Amino acid sequence: MTTIANNLQQVQGRIAQACAASGRGTGHVLLLAVSKTFGPDAVAEAAAAGQRAFGENYIQEGVEKILALRDMPALPGGGLQWHCIGPIQSNKTRLVAEHFDWVHTVDRLKIAERLSAQRPAHLPPLQVCIQVNMDGGATKSGVPPAEALALVQAVAQLPHLKVRGLMSIPDVAPEYAAQLAVHEATRQLFDRIAASGVGGLDRFDTLSMGMTADLEAAIQAGSTMVRVGTGIFGVRPRPVA
Ligand SMILES: *Cc1c(COP(=O)(O)O)cnc(C)c1O
Repeated sequence: MTTIANNLQQVQGRIAQACAASGRGTGHVLLLAVSKTFGPDAVAEAAAAGQRAFGENYIQEGVEKILALRDMPALPGGGLQWHCIGPIQSNKTRLVAEHFDWVHTVDRLKIAERLSAQRPAHLPPLQVCIQVNMDGGATKSGVPPAEALALVQAVAQLPHLKVRGLMSIPDVAPEYAAQLAVHEATRQLFDRIAASGVGGLDRFDTLSMGMTADLEAAIQAGSTMVRVGTGIFGVRPRPVA
């Protein structure tokens, strides 16, 4: 077995254990493999081991990988699914709308409007999570929690987007209890929005939270999608923003 295949198996094992520990079914947590800074070969290797969903932070780099892998031989269980998990500047929305399946990092209506307007008609709606800045880091992206419902409501009106849930990237605290507290706050916000009666939330079912270092706490708090890079591909070859 290759290193990547072995790592995938280990991470899936961690997910299964965390699900069991919190009384959740394993099938409720999707593993998103964060392939940023790694080349198409690493993605192909993970795909050969059964991984289908991949996350990219840098739009240009992600699109190059998507194009490089587009003509891969058909995979059992369907093709690759690409998630944009990095900050999006206005001048990059078209690339995202044309190439990705999901975007986790919508935190401004203007970006959402551009993504909807630029989504090609022949593609299904872009699946969107609203990024929330749960721990208040001043330099971080994400809408403040108090403004999340209004943004969800506005984005839910856009014709070529489908609002699927919330995403957060808290600073990883060293203690489990602190990791759990911030993820639980995100979960509570998610529950309040889901119960708000806002229209267009018929598929509001995704909580994108948890990374290599804190996926257990995220799953205990209710994460449905963990974004794991280092645990699968190893330490990244260059520092990332
Ligand atoms: C890089 C990154 C990850 C993966 O982080 P690891 O610690 O390597 O698992 C997850 N989410 C986002 C938004 C990232 O930028």
